[in-house]
Amino acid sequence: MKNLKKIVAIVLAVLMAASLIACGAKPEAEDPAAANTGKKYIIASDNAFAPFEYLDTETNEYVGIDMDILAAIAEDQKFDYEVQNVGFDAALNQVQSGQADAVIAGMTITDERKLTFDFSDGYFDAGQILVVPADSDIQGVEDLKGTNVAVKISTQGADYAQSIAAEYGFEVTTYEDSPTMYQAVIQGTNSACFEDDPVARYSIQSQSLALKVVGDVVNAKPYGFAAKLGENAELISMFNAGLANIKANGVYDQILEKYGY
Ligand code: GLN
Repeated sequence: MKNLKKIVAIVLAVLMAASLIACGAKPEAEDPAAANTGKKYIIASDNAFAPFEYLDTETNEYVGIDMDILAAIAEDQKFDYEVQNVGFDAALNQVQSGQADAVIAGMTITDERKLTFDFSDGYFDAGQILVVPADSDIQGVEDLKGTNVAVKISTQGADYAQSIAAEYGFEVTTYEDSPTMYQAVIQGTNSACFEDDPVARYSIQSQSLALKVVGDVVNAKPYGFAAKLGENAELISMFNAGLANIKANGVYDQILEKYGY
């Protein structure tokens, strides 16, 4: 009897100690965001895609809608991250090769990309538009016959130009980034280029480029934050949860307003 009491007492003591240790090991097990403390996500982005991400030459920092949305979501969801502004094509490659955890770069959510990327919910809608020299007579794709059109590598604008090139009788030249593509049109190397509508309008205005947009916006679709297919599901869910929160608390609207929306 005495022994049994002793055993019960020892067992209880061990159980209590074990539960204390378990509690100590997971201080905030109730808070899902806390589970991610310590990991620093690498986010790849474009480097010249105003107003979504572009270098502020006064501070030498990358700013823009994507940069601000990511910062607000990371703060809301309590995760650490670092952005690498490597350019659009490089950003997609970094995610596919595992050098980066995710990409935010005004990236259009498409069915084809869903074969290799997991996307967040959409956070901004945009399509492509034709951009021509300010003094050009070109009014739409019907006027591109016999000319050479500039596009940016790996973009929806490039896909669209290639898909209609034969039908409208033009050639396509691919450039590495948006600024070199614009320069090729301004200098007359190319007759026109396809660019995301908000980016074309913002860049023309903010940099006083000798360009104008013509015709209709095509393929309007949402932009999404993306990770390699099957990887970083927790990061995509945090992005979605944070996006919903910043939409609900007004931060999302404040960010868009800051960039003129
Ligand atoms: N929205 C376009 C795309 O996803 C262009 C993105 C970009 O140039 N950063 O292809």
